[in-house]
Amino acid sequence: MAILEKFAHLRGAYQELRSQGSDPFAVRFDRILSPTEGLRGSKRTILFGTNNYLGLTFDASCIEAGIDQLQQSGTGTTGSRIANGSYDGHTRLERELADYYGRAHGMVFTTGYQANLGIISTLVAKGDYLIIDADSHASIYDGARLGTAQVIRFRHNDPEDLRKRLARLPATGSKLIVVEGIYSMLGDAAPLREIAAVKAEAGAYLLVDEAHSLGVLGQKGRGLAEAAGVEDEVDFIVGTFSKTLGTIGGFCVSDLEDFDVLRVACRPYMFTASLPPSLVASTLQALKRLRTDPGLRARLRANSRRFHAGLEQLGFRLGSEPSPIVAVIQEDRDLAVAFWNRLLESGLYVNLALPPATPNGSAILRCSVSAAHSTQQIDTAIAMFAAVGEELGVLAPQPMAATG
Ligand code: PMP
Repeated sequence: MAILEKFAHLRGAYQELRSQGSDPFAVRFDRILSPTEGLRGSKRTILFGTNNYLGLTFDASCIEAGIDQLQQSGTGTTGSRIANGSYDGHTRLERELADYYGRAHGMVFTTGYQANLGIISTLVAKGDYLIIDADSHASIYDGARLGTAQVIRFRHNDPEDLRKRLARLPATGSKLIVVEGIYSMLGDAAPLREIAAVKAEAGAYLLVDEAHSLGVLGQKGRGLAEAAGVEDEVDFIVGTFSKTLGTIGGFCVSDLEDFDVLRVACRPYMFTASLPPSLVASTLQALKRLRTDPGLRARLRANSRRFHAGLEQLGFRLGSEPSPIVAVIQEDRDLAVAFWNRLLESGLYVNLALPPATPNGSAILRCSVSAAHSTQQIDTAIAMFAAVGEELGVLAPQPMAATG
């Protein structure tokens, strides 16, 4: 059998998708003009699928900090921290993150994916138990696969199911529960207060992946654990720099004594090159912007509410309460593909999310809102959804606006 033969079914599905219009997995932007706009050829396209929650990718101070370090320290570190040593920025970023979260320790990874992969696969091992939400991100599932602990899934956002599954486990062995702050596909938040109570009762450890909630939830923007008032019950916070902070990289913070032993035990930390100093500098500056400008979060909240309300009023089925992730759920997969194509042709980019990457086999037009979106961009996006929805028969025709 040819080596790639095993992917024949995937190729077939992918080709079918391409035959239905643009290739959703190969959208190309010829130029990015701002956090919210790009050019595809000469077509101006509003970006509503970037996770650029605070719009910091074009922040002048973040760019300047990056350029400065690029010139001072070069393009990359050309190796891992255990082999090539740490740069000042790596340790500073770890201290800043620990300080922001009020924790004793911080550890920086080269991506958020690797942070989950490394932390989850290392914290629990043979004889231990890893208990994860069924709708967990691929990086959590892959961490489970790389590790040697027994893996147990509980029903999405169901603390009672979690309680039952924990009750069946023997007293021996460490138990690590993993949940996300805001789930990446539907935009729904975990019922963290209830989950923290179950965790405390069971004597387990709790890890929260705040990838989509850092800079979004909580008075200081630390995420869902802060917003729910349960930070003391959360043993490990994992996050990424690739969304709210506008760069790339990941982290884990914790108060656990001896946390630093992970630096010589966690393979996805040890055996990969460390972050380039320019990216570290931009990330440090983005964290500073997040900490010192709560107005960014307020704008994000207002924009999220406006976009959510506009789509809801039109009659679309949405995945969650107002959140920066607005999932427009379509019953029919082919219709979702056609819808996504027409939006792109109209000049609106959102993410097309299809099974198996989605919960409950749903087809989702996944939108992410940014603090940098203007009111006009939000209203234009809503109008584009309305026009395509009517054209494809997903929405009843809207009454004409009254004219004077
Ligand atoms: N966790 C969650 C919940 C995510 O959605 C993502 C990225 N989509 C990651 C982790 C991985 O982050 P990164 O892109 O920094 O690798």
